Amino acid sequence: MMTLGLSLTCLQCGDMYTVATPEAVCKSCGGILEYKLTGNEKPRFNGPITFWKYKPVLPKMTRTVSLGEGGTPLQKAGRLAESLGVNNLWLKNETRNPTNSFKDRSAALIISDAFSRGYDNIICATNGNHGASISAYAARVDLNCNLIVPKAVDLGKLAQMMIYDAKIVEAGNTIEEAIERARKMESEMGWYQATTELNPLATEGLKTISYELVEQNGVPDWIIIAMGSGATLHAVWKGFNEMQQLGIIDHKPHLIGVQAKGCSPITQAFLDGTEKPVKTGKGDTEASAIRVSEPIYGELALQALKDSNGLAVSISDEDMIQAGKEIARYEGIFAEPASAAPVACIKTNEVKEVIGKDDNVVCLVTSSGLKTDDILSSLTKHKKAPRLGSRLATKERILRIISEEPTHGYAIWKNLGSEMTRGAVYQHLNDLENRGLISSTTSGKRKLLEITERGRRVIEALEDLQVLL
Ligand SMILES: [Zn+2]
Repeated sequence: MMTLGLSLTCLQCGDMYTVATPEAVCKSCGGILEYKLTGNEKPRFNGPITFWKYKPVLPKMTRTVSLGEGGTPLQKAGRLAESLGVNNLWLKNETRNPTNSFKDRSAALIISDAFSRGYDNIICATNGNHGASISAYAARVDLNCNLIVPKAVDLGKLAQMMIYDAKIVEAGNTIEEAIERARKMESEMGWYQATTELNPLATEGLKTISYELVEQNGVPDWIIIAMGSGATLHAVWKGFNEMQQLGIIDHKPHLIGVQAKGCSPITQAFLDGTEKPVKTGKGDTEASAIRVSEPIYGELALQALKDSNGLAVSISDEDMIQAGKEIARYEGIFAEPASAAPVACIKTNEVKEVIGKDDNVVCLVTSSGLKTDDILSSLTKHKKAPRLGSRLATKERILRIISEEPTHGYAIWKNLGSEMTRGAVYQHLNDLENRGLISSTTSGKRKLLEITERGRRVIEALEDLQVLL
């Protein structure tokens, strides 16, 4: 029996490293560096499920920084399963982490390491969730948190970074440009590198998801994961490989990776049968969390998909947004579009063909929809459309037309289209005038209609009410 340990190893040439900070790339060959589990002693995980119970399989830290990450619920999704035509669907609800995303697992390890090594400053490129996480954990131990973000970052995530007092610099349009800048800052300033793509501890943090899944409900048949850089899917696969190495499990799940149609370099490579991600331009998707056109972990993700006898698919933004609504309506979880992608892909023919009706399927719900301003604004806009009973809706529509500018009955009838008679429109106008919501002045043969103060207050009240409905 050999004691458990982890050593930073190059995946390409096998060189082993002992370094002052966990570097991401091998100095001799440029390959990706990763922690490799050594020894065969079966670890003991004691107590309830929390992130730090998996300490025996994580790199050693002299100090730990925690906000209560991990130990997230695995929720059986009965109503959603029924709508999708499968019997055993589970949602691993990572929105329940301290900053509402799975990145808290990586941030806990990375900040613990920076703190253990006595750094004062960290540098981190991020397109959202990771930056929100890192800045929260950095705040807890008074580390100066320097973040580099691309231009289009979700407002909610930016707000988190700001409230946790990070210094934020905007650089370039893509995450790739931000990463390049973070690399430079690291070497120029000697700051701790906390970028998820540049610090192998990120993978170690995320692999705990697999350990938790096995403890919660055994090995699933399928795990579906959204892919941006490919790091999450790779990390989950690493967790399962380790558990098999340690004799905790005797088989592994199949993995399904899902990307946005407008940005799918990994899925494209999978379909083409190539080993490296396919260049597909700058990436065109509203799901910013998976808008990565040059996925650093793409090759490893492809390898994991192949090894697990799984598959890769891509879906449209519309399907993600629709799936997000269904997860919320059926299961009470508010997921961001990228996090809804795994559920959305169950509807595709490719996935339907391979998943058996009684298979255990886990979808990884990585992050909360409350952070994404696009979703929030589209939901609230939607609510402002008339949704009450049709009689009231017609009066409301008429009232709104008149509130824009004083107008005539004929113009209102035209404006409403030919869906009702002119007589019906005049009946509504009479009702509105009798209730004091509009007033009229006669000039020549025509009546000019104007909204009253009372009419304006009614419109305001309707808007307030509809936000609640
Ligand atoms: Zn190497």
